[in-house]
Amino acid sequence: MRRMVLRLDPDELNTCVSCGLCLPHCPTFRVTGEEALSPRGRIDAMRAVELRSAPIDDDFVAFMSTCVQCRGCEPACPSNVPYGRLIERTREHLAGTGRSTPRWQRWGFSVLPRHRTLLLGSTALAVAQRLRLLPKRVPIGRLPIRRGRPIESTGTDAWLYTGCVMDAWLRSTHRSTARVLDALGVGYAVPGAGGGCCGALHSHAGLHDDATRLATDVMASMPGDAPILVNSAGCGAALKEYGRLLDTDGARAFSARVFDIHEWIAGRLDDLPGLRRRVVPVIVQDPCHLRHVQGAHGPVRDVLARFADVVELDDDGLCCGAGGAYSALEPELAGRIRDRKMEAFDRALAAVDADVVASANPGCAMHLEADLAARGVAVRHPIDPLAEALP
Ligand code: SF4
Ligand code: SF4
Repeated sequence: MRRMVLRLDPDELNTCVSCGLCLPHCPTFRVTGEEALSPRGRIDAMRAVELRSAPIDDDFVAFMSTCVQCRGCEPACPSNVPYGRLIERTREHLAGTGRSTPRWQRWGFSVLPRHRTLLLGSTALAVAQRLRLLPKRVPIGRLPIRRGRPIESTGTDAWLYTGCVMDAWLRSTHRSTARVLDALGVGYAVPGAGGGCCGALHSHAGLHDDATRLATDVMASMPGDAPILVNSAGCGAALKEYGRLLDTDGARAFSARVFDIHEWIAGRLDDLPGLRRRVVPVIVQDPCHLRHVQGAHGPVRDVLARFADVVELDDDGLCCGAGGAYSALEPELAGRIRDRKMEAFDRALAAVDADVVASANPGCAMHLEADLAARGVAVRHPIDPLAEALP
């Protein structure tokens, strides 16, 4: 029997009928026009290795490493090819054999669950930014030097997941979320020890053992039956996939308790007291893991529509190129994908006089911030203006 090098399921690989309907939804295909950098091309390369004994050469590694893992190809696929699972398994093999995920990247990811170290490092980076000591190609927006006190628990109705980077870079959005929950009369608890990092970046990088360890810790940090509310799209997608990652009943039950914050609030908007509606246009940008993985982009619009005029981009939710650590690892392609996104923003800005873009993911916000600032537009998490619209 043939040895499956990548440990991919042949049935899943063969689900792809090569129809190509996913191609227009793939950012790397859209900016390069190269079949090998499309979902169909990548699946064919996986098949070649797994079913036709092709070698894992540098081209194969490049095809897999340049995938943003945005999963825009999944909802576009009529055959329901589980692309996310295929690429994660493939990345796991590449990381395990030292063909991807270099040591410096593993070291960087190892800091994420160590929250105090992460906060200190983030503050040092913020100071270096102000002193213009960071090279221009470091692809991050303006980091906060002061972030205020951590969010403290107020009750047990729900868990408010605070995460690692989200807390280091966008703690002010946690405060906005807390304010909205206060206004709804919902008491929230913050995760206990071990709840600092969801492991999404580790999972994307093929560091499966680290990802499962972090998932186990996060689950232990939020016991019980209360819903788990998440305001970072990437973390929410990861927590909702713990059932698949760990393949246990406990993990599946945990994932079923996870809600993107907009998803949870959308049905409760009438309970918010006297929202002030400012008739201003807000351009909505969909983080891929909110739209393609969680399918929670509709509730974001429900929330925004309560206090603003929602303006859509005309690119069908195509990825912005942030992709967790992708913009640091593949800066050239990430920049071209962002340029394409900026063209969509420019078309929207030509039609409406907007100065705010709403984005529910810290990675996207940081990736887009500088280019949008140059156009006089600020990136805000949708929950921030919602909190400001409260009386
Ligand atoms: S996950 Fe995104 S970048 Fe990767 S193949 Fe699918 S659409 Fe393309
Ligand atoms: S992944 Fe799906 S949409 Fe893309 S070529 Fe294969 S079957 Fe068609």
